[in-house]
Amino acid sequence: MRAFPLEKTRNIGIMAHIDAGKTTTTERILFYTGRVHKIGETHEGAATMDWMEQEQERGITITSAATTAQWLDHRVNIIDTPGHVDFTVEVERSLRVLDSSVAVFCAKGGVEPQSETVWRQADKYGVPRMAFVNKMDITGADFYNAVDMMKDRLKANAVPIQLPIGAESEFIGIVDLVDMKARVYKDDLGQEIEVTDIPEELKEKAEEYRTALIEAVAENDEELMMKYLEGEELTQEEIKLGLRKGTIDNTIVPVLCGSAYKNKGIQMLLDAVIAYMPSPLDIPPIKGTLVETGEEAVRKADDNAPFSALAFKIMADPYVGKLAFFRVYSGTLDAGSYVFNSTKGKKERVGRILQMHANKREEISRVYAGDIAAAVGLKNTATGDTLCDENNEILLESMEFPEPVIRVAIEPKTRAGQEKMGIALAKLAEEDPTFRTYTDEETSQVIIAGMGELHLEIIVDRLLREFKVEANIGKPQVAYRETITKATDIEAKFARQSGGRGQYGHVKIKVTPQEPGAGYEFINSIVGGAIPREYIPAVD
Ligand code: GDP
Repeated sequence: MRAFPLEKTRNIGIMAHIDAGKTTTTERILFYTGRVHKIGETHEGAATMDWMEQEQERGITITSAATTAQWLDHRVNIIDTPGHVDFTVEVERSLRVLDSSVAVFCAKGGVEPQSETVWRQADKYGVPRMAFVNKMDITGADFYNAVDMMKDRLKANAVPIQLPIGAESEFIGIVDLVDMKARVYKDDLGQEIEVTDIPEELKEKAEEYRTALIEAVAENDEELMMKYLEGEELTQEEIKLGLRKGTIDNTIVPVLCGSAYKNKGIQMLLDAVIAYMPSPLDIPPIKGTLVETGEEAVRKADDNAPFSALAFKIMADPYVGKLAFFRVYSGTLDAGSYVFNSTKGKKERVGRILQMHANKREEISRVYAGDIAAAVGLKNTATGDTLCDENNEILLESMEFPEPVIRVAIEPKTRAGQEKMGIALAKLAEEDPTFRTYTDEETSQVIIAGMGELHLEIIVDRLLREFKVEANIGKPQVAYRETITKATDIEAKFARQSGGRGQYGHVKIKVTPQEPGAGYEFINSIVGGAIPREYIPAVD
């Protein structure tokens, strides 16, 4: 039996510019949803949103793990979305599998350059969003300026559904523009909240913003517009439903405020996630291609449909080995059963299925449509792969991975490290599709390529920490962007044998001819070695 009905499931991401407060907001969400029992616990425990030590040291989040929480009898899966521009691919892959996102902004900085980058990526995938203006307690905090910046820089239809009461050290609570009540925080942990009338000095402003909110809602709904034009009051229920519709349609971005650090506004943020963010039933079904016939098909969020899922994150886990996080689009999957990896053309056995909570992991026997979990045992699965029912093979629309833009030569400090380094680099490349490793034909040097200097530094760091390989790197070269002359679209038809029956499919890949001779290896590395050489046209 499903623990949560589909309509009571929310798959959200939390995206932010570095330092805007994404980690703190996530921690507080886990605290109030009851998964973490004291604030700050996530810093001490092993299982936190920030999995890797170096993330904590660097203060950035580069992984995209998923955590499951519960609020108001709803399941909320939180997909961690990194904020650093070197990891835009991490952002892309998380955006691909989430249904909506909370964008955290700093009340002082407002819209910062990287918030713009992430926002545009979310636009590309049509992700419904709400904005949380965090750090209302800091000097220089200005809610209204942050809202204006969202309108100007992001061209977002940013519609405040709350107003802050006070700012900086005087920030004491929040006005809810839907029920027109004030919520004032009475204790440091944000658990004692007094619901009162809107303070006198804010009344006029609250009326003004409520009118703007109602107009935004009415603009999106003919019936409500008629009512509004006729001078009738919209009910709270109508406003809420209109807001939900506008948010899911991506025509309205509700704006909220608070201070994660001072424990203000998080419960109201969670309420808004439940009220306005889509369930898997509210979003368009995922598209794909049937492997057998090449026909286009969709998979709706339905437990009774054939199983389909996308692997969106591969992680090396100290306890269970390789963990593959996946989002189920349709059907169900049982622990101990088989899935077909249609990207690789291989059948694989799923061992255990785990769901991550802030401070514990739960083993589950079945995962249902619309949910997110991690599988143990999928040896061949890489990020972006489709997992499906072997009798209903489908290749889901996956994510686009950009080409690496920077490369360096890498060398182990000791001779003995050579082989270990090779194995380690191959593992890292499996986790991260924007990281490549190859040997330079002329110099025989091992080259690593990635999305930026920080990306490669982290790879070197991980070599040392996780694989005990000490390595030196050369001077980074911005290689590929300069050498790309012309992109070639090639189409390769291939045949593969699977389970004794012949299967046919085709791949269409944009190849950039920066590395003569690399076309065949490159294409085959994507399809897992399934293509015989004669099927690949010359791409040098
Ligand atoms: P991230 O990089 O977006 O994950 O940001 P963090 O959550 O790590 O926050 C960055 C810094 O800002 C940390 O020192 C936090 O303690 C601090 N911070 C986060 N939220 C708030 C807030 O609401 N008020 C104040 N004063 N500090 C905050």
